[in-house]
Amino acid sequence: MLSVAEAQAVILHHARPLAPASVALADALDLVLAEDVASDLDMPPFDKSMMDGYAVRVSDLPDGRGELSVTGEITAGMAPTVSLGRGQAIRIMTGAPIPTGTEAVVQIERTKPAADGRVEIDDPGLKSQQNILTRGREMRTGDVVLRAGLRLDPQAIGLLATVGRTSVTITPRPQVAVVPTGDEIVEPNHVPVAGQIRNGNGPMLLGQAARAGARPRYLGIARDRVESLGEKISAGLDADVLLLSGGVSAGKLDLVPGVLQDLGVEAHFHKIEMKPGKPLFFGTRAGTLVFGLPGNPVSSFVCFELFVRPALRILRGLSDPGTKLPEAVLIQDFAYRTDRPTYHPARLDPAPTGWRVQPAAWFGSPDLRGLLHCNCCVLFPAGDHRHSAGQRFPVLRLDDCG
Ligand code: AMP
Ligand code: MG
Repeated sequence: MLSVAEAQAVILHHARPLAPASVALADALDLVLAEDVASDLDMPPFDKSMMDGYAVRVSDLPDGRGELSVTGEITAGMAPTVSLGRGQAIRIMTGAPIPTGTEAVVQIERTKPAADGRVEIDDPGLKSQQNILTRGREMRTGDVVLRAGLRLDPQAIGLLATVGRTSVTITPRPQVAVVPTGDEIVEPNHVPVAGQIRNGNGPMLLGQAARAGARPRYLGIARDRVESLGEKISAGLDADVLLLSGGVSAGKLDLVPGVLQDLGVEAHFHKIEMKPGKPLFFGTRAGTLVFGLPGNPVSSFVCFELFVRPALRILRGLSDPGTKLPEAVLIQDFAYRTDRPTYHPARLDPAPTGWRVQPAAWFGSPDLRGLLHCNCCVLFPAGDHRHSAGQRFPVLRLDDCG
């Protein structure tokens, strides 16, 4: 049986970034940039004032003090036409271009109007260039300001707009098709009758896929029959990723792996040394990655986070699959017996000394309610252990951490 790390390596070996495409800037949030972007201008494009105040010459103001005659006013958006002579001050607003001859800007709070259209300056700390943002300080024409591989957060979108981009080349969102399987599964708008249960996994997996930056597509429930499975799986093989839940264990009607292989999906593994979620199936056909997730809700959920999310990160153009787990300190003693490495739902919280983790009350893979309010799974090793408060353990984060 493969370890989790070995299984992740097999999956990542088959995951490639999707072909780049162009999108409007307004649609680019959270997508991954697929081009280097250079600035088309100097920023700021002109020397500009960072304060409301007066443009002055330092040499006119010994110790930052003196009276100057006010010869003009410049507001933001004006083209600079006036220049500053000896003994003069020009009223200037934040963002306005600095007139030639200016050596510093004195902020308005350090000035007082004086008689005859003059101004009194009192700025003992006055220094040459103070409150002036010089042209090109932030960036110069031709500087590469964003590199391929960057996930476009709002500040990146702002910078793209600043350098005049209205569209960008990105890696598109992968399409993820979701097919729950099982004769007993009914949709949430049905009241289950004898032997039936509601389809929690479908909506849950669609939510996980959306949160992982994919485009989810729901294909409906497949029944535990070769024809029904074949029809749904064939439709799903168009997608970049096909997720099935259920039908991958050792039961009589666990037909998913067989049908996948009949439809030309090459199997890469079908069992992992972990809990919850041992019977995970992974295969590929052409460019499509196919995951047969175990039917128990928490197994499906954890397998998505451990195996599908890293693959989606690569497909959407990120270079780091995010498989390295941070560690946190156990908050309380915790006796734990398990025959496989176990991802136990837990709550991760910051403390002055670092991250602390508290295992949730959870009885196993069917217990989706036990996962509620959890934002991580803490990884406990196989064996019969008495873990003590203060010990460190790896945690699989479940919140969206990029
Ligand atoms: P299976 O892997 O098909 O044997 O399913 C394992 C368990 O998960 C069974 O108890 C199923 O009823 C349950 N299960 C399977 N699919 C779903 C689903 N879509 N939503 C909720 N529970 C499910
Ligand atoms: Mg089943």
